[in-house]
Amino acid sequence: NRRQSVDLCQLLNDVHTLLESQAILSSVRMELQFGDEPLYIECDGGEIKQVFINLIKNAIEASNKGGEIVISSKRRDHHIVTTIIDNGSGIPKELLDQIGRPFFSTKVRGTGLGLMISNKIIASHGGSIHIDSSEGEGTTFQVVLPGGKPIG
Ligand code: ADP
Ligand code: MG
Repeated sequence: NRRQSVDLCQLLNDVHTLLESQAILSSVRMELQFGDEPLYIECDGGEIKQVFINLIKNAIEASNKGGEIVISSKRRDHHIVTTIIDNGSGIPKELLDQIGRPFFSTKVRGTGLGLMISNKIIASHGGSIHIDSSEGEGTTFQVVLPGGKPIG
């Protein structure tokens, strides 16, 4: 994969634009939260974009009408931490271990490959993905990526 210096804020703005019509059709509001500073990571921009498309699409698909998705990104020491929070269906406790296994999907037309591929891409960049979910309340996905030197 090709590594380039990519501003994660710009990349998330692009993904937001790409998924805006799907969110509007589902009556889901998406909010982006980050500061004015760009958040540069060394990555394959195409691959990382695919990860956030997967995660944000999943959040939209799990949301009810009137749902809200908050996407935020910030520096934490030598890492950039991005969280995608939805207040949708949540994941039942007994299914949490199966999430991310190849072909595991609860959707009629799901492939069950999005999270497996996302995990692989993030791992190949030296990062990690963490899930926190409560059935009926919502889900938080946290993506941690190496982000170079902190400022100051
Ligand atoms: P697919 O979207 O094709 O089902 P994924 O690998 O992207 O495959 O996701 C696997 C499963 O994880 C989904 O079918 C769904 O059950 C669960 N899931 C993923 N993200 C969320 C989310 N934000 N809220 C609730 N369930 C989710
Ligand atoms: Mg998916």
